[in-house]
Amino acid sequence: MRPLLIQGGHIIDPAQGINETGSLLIAGGKISWLGKGDIEPPLSDFDLLNARELVVCPGLIDLHCHLRQPGFEEKETISTGTKAAAKGGFSTVCCMPNTDPPLDSKTAIAYVKAEAKKEGAVRVLPIGCVSKGRAGEELAPMKELAAAGVVGFSDDGDPVLNTGLMIQALRVSNEVGLPVIDHCEHTGLTGGGVMNRGEVSFELALPGIPPAAEDIMTARDIALARLTGGHLHIAHVSTEESVNIIRRASEQGINVTAEATPHHLTLTEEKMRGYNTNAKVNPPLRTQRDIEALIEGLRDGAIDIIATDHAPHTGAEKRRDLTSAPFGISGFETALGSLMGLVHGGKLPLITLISKLTCEPARIIGDKFGRLGTLAAGASADITIFDPDKEWVVETKSFVSKGKNTPLAGTRLKGKVMATISGGKIVYKDDRIKIEEKTEPAKTSRRKRRKKGI
Ligand SMILES: [Zn+2]
Repeated sequence: MRPLLIQGGHIIDPAQGINETGSLLIAGGKISWLGKGDIEPPLSDFDLLNARELVVCPGLIDLHCHLRQPGFEEKETISTGTKAAAKGGFSTVCCMPNTDPPLDSKTAIAYVKAEAKKEGAVRVLPIGCVSKGRAGEELAPMKELAAAGVVGFSDDGDPVLNTGLMIQALRVSNEVGLPVIDHCEHTGLTGGGVMNRGEVSFELALPGIPPAAEDIMTARDIALARLTGGHLHIAHVSTEESVNIIRRASEQGINVTAEATPHHLTLTEEKMRGYNTNAKVNPPLRTQRDIEALIEGLRDGAIDIIATDHAPHTGAEKRRDLTSAPFGISGFETALGSLMGLVHGGKLPLITLISKLTCEPARIIGDKFGRLGTLAAGASADITIFDPDKEWVVETKSFVSKGKNTPLAGTRLKGKVMATISGGKIVYKDDRIKIEEKTEPAKTSRRKRRKKGI
């Protein structure tokens, strides 16, 4: 592959504190050079991508998505899911193990890795189950899964209700140095709920899911992280109280990290008016007050990262009534555009947003899977290029994901991914991005210089 020079973009690399105009050279699947300002590398034979007016940042990393393969290929496959991820600017995605069969054995992990190598557009790092068969009774062979290359453990889709089991899981997580990612929901309080419990659910006469269902589990898990020293990662935080509990725990030095999703950061329960099953998600969309708390959490570090919880479903499933339609939003392709709304609205600095999608998730993953989340020379050439001001309207028919289930259909967003590079390969490119071949031999330019008398 020829070297690629990405020229004149607004380079944002929070890992190195870089936030200025510059150029980037990639070669051999790695970042080989980064120059600030107008400096050019000494090169004569390369491809050129003009990035003026565009942001150039490390490839986005998603710690939480559902690729649905094996078992639910009608919803999504590793091929379609990773293509959608690439279109959304993600160069690495971590897939949840609630497949059929679940990812609770080294054979299942080997299958996902092989399929990702064959069909995946971007890097796929699988997450293994906490419990055998996700049944919540017996621990999955976590050490075996760790050796097979999982990036963490989770029974996501469901919480780990059994406290004894959660203690065992956190102890093993401590030994193998990988996080336990919990979906915090006390199902004793949520049964049958379809949306946030509050004024709107009363008005719509829909069964509600109280914020307390999440907060109880967040508090329990943190108590267990304190007890065991294991790394607890809390998935999709959605309530003000949970943000407060997590902040306090971090201040006390407990080994806890947490994520928020683009939809919980930008949409409220108001989206449920009209009984829209595409806004049915678990945990549910909450209130503006919860959104403000989550954003504050991003700013002060209580919430470490943003993850999509991309959860594709078929149209037929989402056309059912609200009670029987499945929970979930197809999130890869709208994530960055939605989140840029927070930047344009003055709620979050752009560099903070980028850090929550790049170096922060990379810190949670560690360096076992390569040097990710930075544009430093020698790191994997994972790069996202986006136009922060480009306005576009969400049209589900142009989604690459099989899942068209989004409450954002028809919404105008400001901020669009223009190109995604994963491991040095351009895996997504908007039609407006042109790659120019530069093949001027070095001696010609020397001759030119002589002619000009330089
Ligand atoms: Zn979940």
